[in-house]
Amino acid sequence: MASLTRRQWLVGSAGALAAGLTGALLPPGRPAAALAAAGDAELLARLQVCTPADGLARLLEGNARFAQAWRAARLDGSPEQRMQALGRIWQGNCQIDPQALVEGQRPFAAVLSCADARVDPGWLFACAAGELFQVRSAGNTAFNAAIASLEFAVGELGVPLLVVLGHSGCGAVTAALASEPLTPLLEELVTPIRASLQSGDDLTQAVQANVRHAAGQLTARSALLSRAVDRGQLRILSAYFDLGSGQVSLL
Ligand SMILES: [Zn+2]
Repeated sequence: MASLTRRQWLVGSAGALAAGLTGALLPPGRPAAALAAAGDAELLARLQVCTPADGLARLLEGNARFAQAWRAARLDGSPEQRMQALGRIWQGNCQIDPQALVEGQRPFAAVLSCADARVDPGWLFACAAGELFQVRSAGNTAFNAAIASLEFAVGELGVPLLVVLGHSGCGAVTAALASEPLTPLLEELVTPIRASLQSGDDLTQAVQANVRHAAGQLTARSALLSRAVDRGQLRILSAYFDLGSGQVSLL
């Protein structure tokens, strides 16, 4: 297949879109026919994720696997039992071809999430290295650098799905709700979060309002992302991760 640059893909026809993505998501040097001939059907299926719907199904399936293991680990008391439960998260995604990652990245989704150490998108969506393009800052705010990074993910890497992810117990949103003095830079950090809040919001409501606000900012401030959404090449979703259940819910 003739190679399409990412920029050509973004401005190309629907047919070119499908062809470009199918090829681009395969590991360099390992065409589909070779993978199929090798009986590597599961890896092929994972790498051929190419539409927003495919990406969403893959994320939700991964989170369902994570949440099941997370709940099991909470119930099981011994370190060995927790290790077994959490180890199941990685079953099925340990087929990474290191050489493919040396040659390039082919993420099937991008996530704008909080920097909170408990909220690792790769972990909670049960994704391997190379599968998720991640942009993180405390409070998952759509700062200019974050939007520019996501433009790269969509425009250059052809990512078809973008998820803005908030979470329970968010410290940045808690700080935005409070009135304690902050450093100047932290004030800067919480200012856009405060702009999304309604009077009387509890923490969960505030987190979810902040996520929706950040998601809206992506298309409001990026012509590239807005155009990709209009053309059906990109879907942007808001989501909420509950640390207690391990579950990600779409908002
Ligand atoms: Zn947070």
